[in-house]
Amino acid sequence: MAWHDMTVAELATQLKRKEVSAVALATHFLDRLHGNPHNAFLDIQPDATLAQARRCDEKIAQGLAGPLEGVPIAHKDIFVTQGFATTAGSRMLKAYQSPFDATVVTRLRQAGMVTLGKLNCDEFAMGSANENSAYGPVTNPWDVQRIPGGSSGGSAAAVAARLTPAATGTDTGGSIRQPSAFCGITGIKPTYGRASRHGMVAFASSLDQAGPMARSAEDCALLLTAMCGPDPDRDSTSLNVASEDFSTQLALPAGDKPLAQAGKGGQPLRIGVPAQWRGQGLQPDILHAMTQALSQCESLGAEVVEVSLPHAPLSIPVYYIVCAAEASSNLSRFDGVKFGHRASSYADLTDMYLRTRGEGFGDEVKRRIMIGSYVLSHGYYDAYYLQAQKIRRMIADDFQAAFTQCDVIAGPVAPSTAWRLGDNANDPLAHYLADIYTLPASLAGLPCMSLPVGLGDMGMPVGLQLIGNYLQETPLLNLAHRFQQVTQHHLAKPEGV
Ligand code: GLN
Repeated sequence: MAWHDMTVAELATQLKRKEVSAVALATHFLDRLHGNPHNAFLDIQPDATLAQARRCDEKIAQGLAGPLEGVPIAHKDIFVTQGFATTAGSRMLKAYQSPFDATVVTRLRQAGMVTLGKLNCDEFAMGSANENSAYGPVTNPWDVQRIPGGSSGGSAAAVAARLTPAATGTDTGGSIRQPSAFCGITGIKPTYGRASRHGMVAFASSLDQAGPMARSAEDCALLLTAMCGPDPDRDSTSLNVASEDFSTQLALPAGDKPLAQAGKGGQPLRIGVPAQWRGQGLQPDILHAMTQALSQCESLGAEVVEVSLPHAPLSIPVYYIVCAAEASSNLSRFDGVKFGHRASSYADLTDMYLRTRGEGFGDEVKRRIMIGSYVLSHGYYDAYYLQAQKIRRMIADDFQAAFTQCDVIAGPVAPSTAWRLGDNANDPLAHYLADIYTLPASLAGLPCMSLPVGLGDMGMPVGLQLIGNYLQETPLLNLAHRFQQVTQHHLAKPEGV
């Protein structure tokens, strides 16, 4: 099997057995990046990558290898990364060089991973199609006429096209799950606070969360184990819970009906499907793939029950008020003084701010800053922002009620498969509406993932979303892994890859 077809788990084993060197692997993947397929990468620095790989080979030779020593990974360009540019997909940060690494980047380096480069994304992670990047859109490896999803579109396309075995992504309102679904890969957003936000260019701080995107649940478990853990000195919202090894459970013997005792108290795992999520607006091929996947889970011993998330439909207005409010505050730091772009000519200080921000930000970012400033302004704060926060709590409470009836919630990731490039490009509302299934778990801060469950009518991948209760990543990964042990959907790859 070619190296680029191997999973993170397989590559880690080969490296440990010295069947391949880290340098050979890095070279192999760097060769695949020639011509920047799918416009997935925004920066590569082969010398820096190869230097990291050489150090990994030394560690392996000395018997000091970390768990993922020598396995390549690429980072969404939202994570500041020493030695590489960090643009957040924005003109504002063109060629910006960070003097430090994001905590997630540091942790993955400590686990031994080699940085291949930085991945294209929507500007400041705002978007659902990767068409908001100042550096051009990313194409979907399954059909280059189509979008890869967003905002972690470069991450999803790169993993699907075998340009990297794995990638980091960030998910504020769906940006790990939706591009994973659209590109036929597996991705997980952990519980809010599991992974440090230090060094992640901020979009909406109460929602932003990092997670891995790879080709299997097993790989996601390995990567998530390396990424997570408290970071009290650098991220005050990082949870004070010890790092967990998310892959230990996966190693348990599967048995005939592995989910028959995987629920609470040794009961069958109960999968709750929200009544609101089988309804109108869902593309029939998605409903079909989802229904088939759920019956497969039943044949593995799970029970499927109906649950209700009555306030979930309100997630769209709530999310687009809260995220815009937080973005307008977070992005005030880009003022032409502290860092990033500054207009080359201006009349006075105010003019400098206006020109700098006018030139540096794209349309979607400006739209959110304006909405955010509006909903936070005196007179509108109570009517919009405060109301949104109250409904946010109701959405979170709905989940707690649902989790009294099930262990895991399952549903669609998006109402459709990946659409054509340019479709809806001038209709931001259409993009916002397509986030309907991913926003509730984000607003509640719950762990959630997407795994491939087949191809839809146009031959485009369909993802199944799984949502767990707080800190319950393990049951999600376990369920996804059991599913992937008996199905082939996650092994499907785009033609010509
Ligand atoms: N599509 C959503 C938005 O545009 C989610 C983006 C994200 O999760 N970063 O805000």
